[in-house]
Amino acid sequence: MLNYREFIKKLDSGLSLYFDEQKSFICCKKYCSSCCEKGDYPLSNYELDFLTEGYSALDNLTKIQVQENFKKMEKGGQCPFLINKVCCVYEYRPIICRVHGLAYICSNGIAKVPYCANEGKNYSNEYKSGVLNCEPVKENLDTAALLKDFPDVVIKNLYDWINI
Ligand code: SF4
Ligand code: SF4
Repeated sequence: MLNYREFIKKLDSGLSLYFDEQKSFICCKKYCSSCCEKGDYPLSNYELDFLTEGYSALDNLTKIQVQENFKKMEKGGQCPFLINKVCCVYEYRPIICRVHGLAYICSNGIAKVPYCANEGKNYSNEYKSGVLNCEPVKENLDTAALLKDFPDVVIKNLYDWINI
């Protein structure tokens, strides 16, 4: 069976090539966290297990902060793992967080563009009136597509995983 940790290592090295290829459209930087402040954060059972591992490795104070954030979490709201504008489980973050920031072709053949293109950030110079005027990554980077070789994948929003 595929090992998720090995899979993530390979995914990260592939993604770093994509970020490099697309670098003229990307302006991600530390403390730019608006992509973690609003969203659904869909993730699979595999990613949830990995994220739980990351949570377990946190110091007690950070764990308490994350727990408090989970109590206040709203659907579509801020990710509980965002603390002082930084992801506290960065090495363990879900696939969508690793891919986020890139524009890529998804299953319907249409380019998926990060929403911050509308906020003057990534791809904002190339994305006008819903049309992307540059070549996106030519691989479907949706979580379900990337995990296609894993058995029994279940994908839910973070809020729904913790409110079952
Ligand atoms: S994807 Fe957009 S919002 Fe997120 S860090 Fe990059 S520039 Fe900032
Ligand atoms: S897990 Fe980390 S990178 Fe992903 S949304 Fe939450 S804070 Fe952001």
